[in-house]
Amino acid sequence: MKQLVMANQSVDTEEVPDPTPKDDWVVVKIIASPICGSDRHVFYAKTPSRGGHEGSGEVVAVDKPERLRVGDRVSLGPLAACKKCEFCNAGDYIHCLNQPPVGTHFAEYTLAQEFVTPTIPDDLDLDVASLAGCALGPSLGALTRMATGPGHTILITGLGPVGLGAVTVAKFRGARVIAVEPGPWRRRRAQELGADTVIDPTEVDPLKTIIDLTEGLGPHHAIDCTGKTPAERLCIDVVRRRGKVAFVGENPDDIPLGPSRDMIRKGIDLIGGWHFNLGLYPEMFRLLRESPVVDKLISHRFGFDQAQEAFDTFFSGQAAKVLIKPWETEA
Ligand SMILES: [Zn+2]
Ligand SMILES: [Zn+2]
Repeated sequence: MKQLVMANQSVDTEEVPDPTPKDDWVVVKIIASPICGSDRHVFYAKTPSRGGHEGSGEVVAVDKPERLRVGDRVSLGPLAACKKCEFCNAGDYIHCLNQPPVGTHFAEYTLAQEFVTPTIPDDLDLDVASLAGCALGPSLGALTRMATGPGHTILITGLGPVGLGAVTVAKFRGARVIAVEPGPWRRRRAQELGADTVIDPTEVDPLKTIIDLTEGLGPHHAIDCTGKTPAERLCIDVVRRRGKVAFVGENPDDIPLGPSRDMIRKGIDLIGGWHFNLGLYPEMFRLLRESPVVDKLISHRFGFDQAQEAFDTFFSGQAAKVLIKPWETEA
């Protein structure tokens, strides 16, 4: 089979043996695999690397699964689980202590572990269903933990694919959305997804503007999708007293935090949200089915023969989710 390999911003295909099913790991023919912001590490790597950790597809070969059958349409996630540790037992597989490795999803086929591979309902398009990965997963998990809903105003910092996904989830849950993003393409797409106010932080002081938009109190909740310290601090500074702040953008740096000022006196909750657990899949499928705008999270689709263009487009900042379609060739 073919899969993508990349290094130094150059993308190629390579030929590798087809995977074979083993025990509860089934072979999935990948129909759509979105590029993730975290594939940046792979695209810019100095040595040949393989990314891709989301997607949708069809089961084509099985060994001894209990539930999945050949022909099932399935959702592919970034993680697998040991199914034995206390976190797996609690249904919290994303924090599993012994996660088995998962192969690249920028491939014609991949192996998927049955336990973490839900079946996609028949009425959902497989391209749209591929958004159940990092497009919508991190924000669905975080907004569920914050119980964001009608009557809440939420600040979303950063409108890359995860931030645009957060706009989609927050609007679906009935919240008012204020978003901050310097890129005009992304601001426009957020408005198409229903964001109530979008702010260019290079034009106005975001903190003052958001305070003015919220009767001097600040938003109830904030979610950072930038992974950048200034935006994370903005979330903490602007959220109202007793508010909640979720971090979903990966930030390898430390940020300044005043336990007394930020948490004890202001009373805010700070949470980290990585992904979502299997128990949220029914809500994810409901969102994918009922959101009137969710398909706008897909801005481009490319086959393997256009993979270079796919990655160049994605990292140009003028894109939402870019889908890699291994089986499609340029018309
Ligand atoms: Zn991802
Ligand atoms: Zn585990």
